[in-house]
Amino acid sequence: MREIKFRQLVRTIVPSGDNSNLRTKEGGMIWHYFGVIDNAWISPVGLQYPIMQFTGLKDKNGKEIYEGDCLGGVWEMTYVGWCEKSGGYEIFICKKECMACSGDVHWYEIVEDKEKEVIGNIYESKHLLV
Ligand SMILES: [Zn+2]
Repeated sequence: MREIKFRQLVRTIVPSGDNSNLRTKEGGMIWHYFGVIDNAWISPVGLQYPIMQFTGLKDKNGKEIYEGDCLGGVWEMTYVGWCEKSGGYEIFICKKECMACSGDVHWYEIVEDKEKEVIGNIYESKHLLV
């Protein structure tokens, strides 16, 4: 079963002893993970921080793919987002255009691609989407 979990981009340094094991520093930023993790509920740190849901997919390196992640290779210049129209995750291009709604790429192509790789996200890798 897919884990129901989320991450938040927490820009400030988190006080020690406060679920610090669930926070990782990647790309110079601090991430907080919450949801049902290892059968325990972990709370979000605050709604002022952006929230991204885990898609249930991992990339070729085993890295979890979240909403807002940018993919490399043939998916360069795209990011993962939620499409209200299709009711699911899809790939978006730089100007927030859903590639499934435009008929170009559908989520199953991402699911089936064994070479997909997370190379950044929309918050810390804006240069990837120019
Ligand atoms: Zn769409």
